[in-house]
Amino acid sequence: MNRTPIRIILAGARGNMGKEAAQLVAETEHFECVAVLDHKHEGQFLADIEGMPALEARIYTDADEVFSAVEADVLIDLTTPAAGKVHMEKALDYGVRPVIGTTGFSDEDIERLTKKAEEKELGAIIAPNFAVGAVLMMKFSQMAAKYFPDVEIIERHHDRKLDAPSGTAVKTAQLISDVREEKNQGHPQETEEMQGARGADMEGMHIHSVRLPGLVAHQEVMFGGSGQTLTIRHDSINRQSFMPGVQLAVETSLNLSTLVYGLENIME
Ligand code: NAP
Repeated sequence: MNRTPIRIILAGARGNMGKEAAQLVAETEHFECVAVLDHKHEGQFLADIEGMPALEARIYTDADEVFSAVEADVLIDLTTPAAGKVHMEKALDYGVRPVIGTTGFSDEDIERLTKKAEEKELGAIIAPNFAVGAVLMMKFSQMAAKYFPDVEIIERHHDRKLDAPSGTAVKTAQLISDVREEKNQGHPQETEEMQGARGADMEGMHIHSVRLPGLVAHQEVMFGGSGQTLTIRHDSINRQSFMPGVQLAVETSLNLSTLVYGLENIME
């Protein structure tokens, strides 16, 4: 079947996630990489940089320039929290649908960007985790939280990650808080003898962030009840685990006219 190619600008193509996404775009018949947005290598082609996938896409370092010079349908952004927010705003300004894997967006960011996507009648997706297994872990955690209000989230990531806690941990906590009766966990007189020992606190739930070389992206959601514990765990062993979700988000963004936050909202 011949499909009109979806024209993609890829931001962050030299990064760990970006390299996988570049490979996905190169291997997907109906995807076409029309440009790369970076903060280095202006005017070079991605394929000419050592170790990069063979994508004949020109690199731009100015977001306004790339969006005005190149006709594109979708921006895939896998950069940093600060750059991702700027790129997303600009993409919407120029009528390009953003598919954002970059984490670190706050509730206020999401609210503002939803308004903007709706004003522009453009599809946009922010997915803090593109791995289908991670989405199921979040859904199962939400199911369990109805019966176990005592919960601790332990997320573990590689030590190059900039934001903590992870977007997935925050999203998990939000999903749990929709069904969990609010409760301060632990002993009522509990004190921290060392700052941060009990992790971050969201409505009495605790979130712990581990950063170590050798890790990719892992999360455990631990529930405790009288005489029992329940642990729901997901491991991304490599970054290929995220690519089916990226592909689904790119394809789905074309049929949306608002911002969708979370892969679970586009999975059937
Ligand atoms: P990474 O390896 O550090 O890659 C980030 C890339 O973005 C690098 O090539 C970096 O270049 C580039 N970059 C930095 N600032 C930029 C800017 N202003 N404009 C354009 N490019 C810029 O990080 P990663 O592990 O690939 O992760 C990228 C993002 O995806 C992070 O926010 C991470 O939390 C998120 N993530 C999401 C998922 C998901 O499923 N949604 C999964 C894993 C990771 P330099 O290295 O030269 O600075």
